[in-house]
Amino acid sequence: MPAIDLHPTRCPICRTVDGARQLYPANFDPQALNSEVFSARRLPDRIHFRLVRCLGCGLVRSDPIADTELLSELYARSDFTYQSQTQDLRRTYGRYLDNLAGHGAVKGTLLEIGCGNGFFLDEALSRGYREVHGVEPSAAAIEHADARIRPHIIRDIMRPGLFPAETFDVICLFQVFDHIPDPGALLAECFALLKPAGLMLFINHNVGAVSARLLGRLSPIVDIEHTYLYSSDTMTRLCRLHGFTIAAAGTAFNTYSLSYLARLLPLPAVGKKPLLAALDNTRFGRIRLTVPLGNLRLVARKELK
Ligand SMILES: [Zn+2]
Repeated sequence: MPAIDLHPTRCPICRTVDGARQLYPANFDPQALNSEVFSARRLPDRIHFRLVRCLGCGLVRSDPIADTELLSELYARSDFTYQSQTQDLRRTYGRYLDNLAGHGAVKGTLLEIGCGNGFFLDEALSRGYREVHGVEPSAAAIEHADARIRPHIIRDIMRPGLFPAETFDVICLFQVFDHIPDPGALLAECFALLKPAGLMLFINHNVGAVSARLLGRLSPIVDIEHTYLYSSDTMTRLCRLHGFTIAAAGTAFNTYSLSYLARLLPLPAVGKKPLLAALDNTRFGRIRLTVPLGNLRLVARKELK
């Protein structure tokens, strides 16, 4: 089995392949990685491609990366691992969905790209949206969808031709945009699919957040699945390039249980295990906190012509 091919990536803002400075070298040997290992998702944790920062605009990206067909296959086979956090994510994303009313959102037709098991589609319906659609490549995630929601999910990667133009009032991407290998093409497609005055809601990692800066390459956002790492500034520039105006951009606040937050603490296992057990078995673990944990939120609008 031959080693996987790696391809250079391009800055989607400056459209340049060169003109970037290396931040971190790849932390694995690409020669040791063949497509069988890669697509079966038997990857070791915490590996990443080489990361560079564009000298023109500051956007951070993986470069070079495996070809996008291989990456798509990886997602199609990926496991569904975030069931335990679903209630907290419903609260967080639901709150930001309600917040769109302040930007003139119509509770009509909503699309979520990378909808997983569709929990947010259910949340959008419960918050008054008339019609919801999801696109999700992972079969395992869709299998976990509620029977009422499953018919609203298309198993595919997001691509042109799935929906007619000017179908949606709102398009959401939660922890998805930084995985997209061609973000410019995705934004162009979303722009076409939105009705005039339609809105996009993004929540994803923020490479400009304090946590990401302090942790550097040890940050969990430095990961083989993230083709691009955005800040509010680079997301704003990219969305404007594709015709959007920016209605809101800044830090996202997630709601988590104390139990979940404790799992993120950089503690040695010997101290962490009893702490987690204590939290899981008492009401303290169910206390919820709303905190900034290195995510950004951006709302982009397709203006009326
Ligand atoms: Zn650039």
